[in-house]
Amino acid sequence: MPLYEFHCVHCQKTVELMLSLSSANPDLCPNCHQTGSMEKLISRVNFKMIGSGGYKADFKKKTFQSPLNDVPSIEDAERALKKDI
Ligand SMILES: [Zn+2]
Repeated sequence: MPLYEFHCVHCQKTVELMLSLSSANPDLCPNCHQTGSMEKLISRVNFKMIGSGGYKADFKKKTFQSPLNDVPSIEDAERALKKDI
């Protein structure tokens, strides 16, 4: 399950929550229990997806790997993060 970061506009706390893709945003802050105060932040998970184009270009060189084995390496993720910043 993907990990998302949420920021509470009420208590200013940032929390990480595991949500399935079909889940709605949490409407209850786990810290102050204020409802309707959670805002989704762009997390490392999102950065990794944005950087997947660079990963695919790299992947073509690794012909010994199965196309089904579509898991970015740590190096690819770090490169994607640097590119986005
Ligand atoms: Zn809160």
